[in-house]
Amino acid sequence: MTQATPVLTERGRILDGAVLAERVKVDVAQRVAELRARGIIPGLTVVLVGDVPASAVYVGSKERTCIELGMHGETIRRPADITQAELLAIIDELNASSNVHAILVQMPLPKHSDSDEVLRRIRPDKDVDGFHTVNVGKLWIGERDGFAPCTPAGVLYMLQAHNVETSGAQCVIVGRSNIVGKPMAALMVQPGVDSTGTLCHSRTRDLAEQTRRADILIVAAGRAEMIGGDMIKPGAVVIDVGMNRIADPSKKSGTRLVGDVAFEAARAVASLITPVPGGVGKMTIAMLMANTVRAAAQLNRVEQSAS
Ligand code: NAP
Repeated sequence: MTQATPVLTERGRILDGAVLAERVKVDVAQRVAELRARGIIPGLTVVLVGDVPASAVYVGSKERTCIELGMHGETIRRPADITQAELLAIIDELNASSNVHAILVQMPLPKHSDSDEVLRRIRPDKDVDGFHTVNVGKLWIGERDGFAPCTPAGVLYMLQAHNVETSGAQCVIVGRSNIVGKPMAALMVQPGVDSTGTLCHSRTRDLAEQTRRADILIVAAGRAEMIGGDMIKPGAVVIDVGMNRIADPSKKSGTRLVGDVAFEAARAVASLITPVPGGVGKMTIAMLMANTVRAAAQLNRVEQSAS
């Protein structure tokens, strides 16, 4: 793997997610071209329920990126009052379609929907979000044909692209969600990555004591700038997954996006740090594209060996 050129400063270097995301996309486009040459057009279908504006934005950019990379991208839109049975019927249809290699149900679903049941209805080999229990299990066991959730997979890619020494490193993760914190921990302790993992949450006693031990600190708590410079070990690598909108009267919109880490204070201490925006967020869609093209390749391999 070639190393991305970090932006050098007198303080911590910036780990640029945009540059790395482009690299992943170039690789995906190449693999799409190879599949297309064999008559296979990788396809992702996103199911969007209701009219949450942020969800519509995320879904739009997933569809656009698919098309940009030569894949088939489509979105099935349904109103918020869709019944659970109707939603499951859509998943069943997508599971059965040979043109659909990847399925993603955009969260959150309306309150009356049972999200767990919906996620478990998706065929594990089309579950490119990696939220199905089969894929969660494969991730922990270390079976490589499963799908890891895109955000933690993107974080690991960033660390490896910058040759961050993970083996034997103390990796402290703040946040234990099923989407980020827990799968991040699973990835960091796998053989080959070999970090020693600590998973913190809102009940952790003396969080700063934990974070100060970290050679690699990954924060996904959804609390604006909760990690100050005094909570970081000098020279640590700091990955900020958080995305929080805070009031900023100096901006035309009246708000701005910040991470869970107080960026300037942390940068004075860290050796390498992700900005928000422009860090981890950029990687998530790129990793989704990588999972989609792999799903298409794996499904066609299975179909070929069955025929
Ligand atoms: P989540 O489901 O709300 O989980 C937050 C976790 O942080 C929980 O485990 C919670 O602990 C823990 N936590 C909250 N406050 C804490 C505190 N003061 N001290 C220690 N732990 C604390 O959030 P999520 O879905 O994982 O997302 C986390 C953040 O990442 C959000 O800002 C989200 O927008 C962002 N995100 C970004 C991307 C991306 O692509 N960049 C993708 C996904 C998420 P408990 O379990 O004890 O409640």
